[in-house]
Amino acid sequence: MKCDPNLYRGAPPSLAVKPRLLRHLLLPPLIILLMIGLGYAGYRISEHFSVVTLSESGERQLELHARTVESELSKYTYLPSLLELESSVSQLLADPTVQNRVTVNQYLEGLNRRSRSRAIYVLDTTGRVVATSNWRDSDSYLGEDLSFRAYFKDAVRGQPGRFYGIGSTTGEPGYYLAHGLEEQGKIIGVAVIKVRLEALEERWQRARLEAYVSDENGIIILSSDPSRRLKSVRPLTADVKEQLARSLQYYWWPLVELQPLERERLGEGVEKVTFTASNEIMTDDKEVSYLAQTRKLNDTPWDITLLTPLQDLRRAAANQGMLVAGAFALLAFLLIAWNERRKVIATRLAAREALQEANSQLERKITERTAHLRASNERLKGQIRERRQAEETLRRAQDELVQAGKLAAIGQMSTSIAHELNQPLAALRTLSGNTVRFLERGDLTVATNNLSTINNLVDRMGRITANLRSFARRGEDLGQANLNKAVDTVLQLLASRLEASGVELHRDFIDVALKIDQTRLEQILLNLIGNALDALQDQPTAPQLWLEGAHSEDKYRICVRDNGPGIAPENRKHLFEPFFTTKPGEQGLGLGLTLSASLAAAAGGNLGVEFPQTGGVAFVLLLPLVLPAKAEPI
Ligand code: ADP
Repeated sequence: MKCDPNLYRGAPPSLAVKPRLLRHLLLPPLIILLMIGLGYAGYRISEHFSVVTLSESGERQLELHARTVESELSKYTYLPSLLELESSVSQLLADPTVQNRVTVNQYLEGLNRRSRSRAIYVLDTTGRVVATSNWRDSDSYLGEDLSFRAYFKDAVRGQPGRFYGIGSTTGEPGYYLAHGLEEQGKIIGVAVIKVRLEALEERWQRARLEAYVSDENGIIILSSDPSRRLKSVRPLTADVKEQLARSLQYYWWPLVELQPLERERLGEGVEKVTFTASNEIMTDDKEVSYLAQTRKLNDTPWDITLLTPLQDLRRAAANQGMLVAGAFALLAFLLIAWNERRKVIATRLAAREALQEANSQLERKITERTAHLRASNERLKGQIRERRQAEETLRRAQDELVQAGKLAAIGQMSTSIAHELNQPLAALRTLSGNTVRFLERGDLTVATNNLSTINNLVDRMGRITANLRSFARRGEDLGQANLNKAVDTVLQLLASRLEASGVELHRDFIDVALKIDQTRLEQILLNLIGNALDALQDQPTAPQLWLEGAHSEDKYRICVRDNGPGIAPENRKHLFEPFFTTKPGEQGLGLGLTLSASLAAAAGGNLGVEFPQTGGVAFVLLLPLVLPAKAEPI
């Protein structure tokens, strides 16, 4: 049974995984774009929240350090006013004698040492230094005119003088606190204390803190980073610059602007600034970004600015961004993998369903075909039964035919048989009569010879009748025949006709065992040779009969040929038809050839006819061999 190829075809096209070119082309760049976008968003959000957190903690730090600076400054606030209480100071201002000056100088020297300030000095109302703690030093302020100093101008007007500047004598920066010394409601002089604030800077540096303090002019007066010191935090106009230069507040410093590379205002007093990296800040980057938080310092017009580096924050934000991008990539990968797996499972399910469907179809077809086969098998069995019955019937008919043919042959031969038997009978009668007479005469020799001849004649007659009996008897189908024996038997039966016709017989075959019943072979040969003798009956000159044999593969070919008149073309096709005869009256039944052909076919051979060029007819009998032929010539 052939399988239906359609049963095993693949899953239906709708269920198969379709390569969607567009999706496959667009998906990777889309994922990469989303990765970059989300990574950047993650970076920005992380940066924003980090800045918020940082600015909160920076706020607290700023507050703390502002307090520190304020307390450092306020330590000295009241010191200049204390000199009002010192009588020697007022005496000196009232009477600037050498003795008074020495007294005040020594007093100021001691006070300066105890207060750890840089210098303490007293100016008269004209701005000239009348006494100073550094009176012993070579660069002593003594006698110097400091009336141009703003702190003097403020103090002499009765206002507190606060001033950061660079000393005009020493060139050393310091914080100046001045106080107008009053006596009876009148300013008689000005007390000034100069303090150094480097301690604050050192403390910042030790704490690795980046901060600076800018004064009322926007000039950085204190800075953890020395490179930023005395730079202006806001642009200065040329006028202001000139004014400041003239006041010598910052000595001859150029007061360049501290220009950040980038500046972004984030809120009140909070901005993001980027500077070129200074040598002090050891970093691989060329730029450094800070969160700059600024607030006012109490009791001064100064601002303190705290710089918190954003490097770590940015690095952390970048890491967060990368983490987000990575997480997205992982998620995208998992989603794609999940989707692919889902599709594969769907395809497999579809394929399994298709296979199951194909299987059930196949089973259905097998069941149908099995039923069909069973039916045709039954039909075949029926046909075989019928055929066997037909064969049986045919066989019986054949047997009947053979029998009928034999009887017909006997009928045909009856004349010749009678002739055959009458002759010896007549001879017997004559011989027996003669023998009686010879016995009466006493001639025993002749009588003995006659009796011997009688004996031979009786034997011959017995043989004739025995042949006839065996021919007429229903043949036992032993399935094996001897060619030589069969030819001899037939020739014996036809001996008288052969003799009478004067036919010259040629035997050219070997003795072989053939797969056919002996009597059936004899029957066939009797028909063929008998027909030949019939045909040669009217042959005037040299009638001849050839019995020739030859091997043909596993068969033996027996050819019965005569040189008779042959067969008219119009009769040739009817030769093997039953009851076809050209013989007149009772002579022909038209069964001989039909019967012979049927016997040959039943034995697995066949009977055919040939018409030789030389004339006559050749009947060719082909029969299967039992054993390999014996190479014995006849
Ligand atoms: P029947 O001998 O009774 O006629 P057959 O079937 O034996 O029946 O022969 C059929 C016919 O074939 C014969 O009548 C004869 O005309 C023809 N026939 C057979 N053998 C020969 C032969 N050797 N030569 C010529 N004709 C023949």
